[in-house]
Amino acid sequence: MARVQLENVKKIYSGNVTAVHDFNLDIADKEFVVFVGPSGCGKSTTLRMVAGLEDISEGICKIDGEVVNDLQSKDRHISMVFQNYALYPHLTVFENMAFPLRLDKKEHVYPWSEEELQKINKKIEALKAKGGQEDKIAKLEASKEKGKVVKGYSQDEIFQKVIDAARVLGITQYLTRKPKALSGGQRQRVAIGRAMVKDCKVFLMDEPLSNLDAKLRNQMRAEIILLRKRINTTFIYVTHDQTEAMTLGDRIVCMRDGYIMQVGSPTQLFDMPDNLFVAQFIGAPMMNTFHTNLVEKGGKYHVEFFGAEFPITGEKGEMLKEKGVQTR
Ligand code: ADP
Ligand code: MG
Repeated sequence: MARVQLENVKKIYSGNVTAVHDFNLDIADKEFVVFVGPSGCGKSTTLRMVAGLEDISEGICKIDGEVVNDLQSKDRHISMVFQNYALYPHLTVFENMAFPLRLDKKEHVYPWSEEELQKINKKIEALKAKGGQEDKIAKLEASKEKGKVVKGYSQDEIFQKVIDAARVLGITQYLTRKPKALSGGQRQRVAIGRAMVKDCKVFLMDEPLSNLDAKLRNQMRAEIILLRKRINTTFIYVTHDQTEAMTLGDRIVCMRDGYIMQVGSPTQLFDMPDNLFVAQFIGAPMMNTFHTNLVEKGGKYHVEFFGAEFPITGEKGEMLKEKGVQTR
């Protein structure tokens, strides 16, 4: 759960290739934002800068209010799913999913078992009998209050988390298999499962469905909607597929050549595209466009087209008027 802020973010690759120009975006906590645009427009680069997999050349990226520019990827509390799954071929599905949990060496606190508590109490008694051991006794009392501190997750917890994720994704029957014995869709589920088991603030997905056939892609899209409901965290999802963007995103960021062309809800982009690029990129089949003349009559705009006049009414007319659009 976290807000993600990108302020004047720029990416210059070696060879002076500017992949992302002055990117500004404020993503709310629990929002599902989709970056969409044609191949090469800088979607992955932007996502990878949030993930900490690419350096940020200029500008700042904040996660949960904290500037993360200099934080390593592992310290950013993100989970990421890639297009090519990136599973470890020599590990079983279970171990692939457990991997991020085994890597996590953060301190976890568990309640003491009855047995363990009794042992501590015995120690305290013994120290009291000895006398003059106040410091040690205080430490033990404090640890009784706090619970057992363990570095990393316990085996039980790893097992539980992996099983829970596998259940949600319907892959429990494959847990002992290696990735090569799975179909593309199943592999992608494992990759999503691996990202799910981690407690993360931001869930990043880079074209996770692009390698799947059309039917499976539709099915997985529905599953991602469910996944989102279940983990209810901030999502940034990258795709070149406008249908995917329209169906998944609370907000869509439409990009071209490293620039943001428009940010808005799916309906805003569809009904009120800011420019011709967005108008043609969003919507299937593609919108047809014509050169026409805009004329103004009695304070209202009309479009002249092959001798006929079509009034521009409502919101669109008001918008043109507000912007003082010139007629000819
Ligand atoms: P998208 O994900 O939208 O397809 P990318 O973010 O991968 O686009 O790439 C954006 C631009 O940056 C492209 O022009 C690409 O060629 C360039 N680019 C990506 N990675 C590198 C790199 N490591 N070195 C140089 N240029 C790169
Ligand atoms: Mg990409």
